[in-house]
Amino acid sequence: MSGFYFKSRDVMKSGKQRRVEIMEKRRARIPAKESFDVYALPVPAGAVLADQDALSHNKNAIFLPLFYVDYAFNCRDCGAAQIWTGKQQKWWHEIMQGNINSVAIRCRPCRKIEQQRKKQARETHLSGLAAKQKQ
Ligand SMILES: [Zn+2]
Repeated sequence: MSGFYFKSRDVMKSGKQRRVEIMEKRRARIPAKESFDVYALPVPAGAVLADQDALSHNKNAIFLPLFYVDYAFNCRDCGAAQIWTGKQQKWWHEIMQGNINSVAIRCRPCRKIEQQRKKQARETHLSGLAAKQKQ
């Protein structure tokens, strides 16, 4: 048996083999994380509980809310202080199937104005398109 043969079979390891061994040792050293039950956490007073099944349309969401709490914000257009209530959030996310990352940004009157503006813009666009196609 030659020295080279001994070395190559038993002592010499590839970089990949060495990396695998190091990672295994490291994994053995780190204790497994204790899992904790998020459902066991206390729910704030006045919170509206979320229905996880009704939120299943959020396919890419990592976290889905367990409950909704009132959310304070200022209207983007008029700056009025507003509260987006937990109940309204539940309606938006679960019944209207709104995206879980979407939040209220306008007060009710400004939202109506914005809806009207969008409707008007859409009509203008479509009538312009129709006029163009007639030519
Ligand atoms: Zn407003």
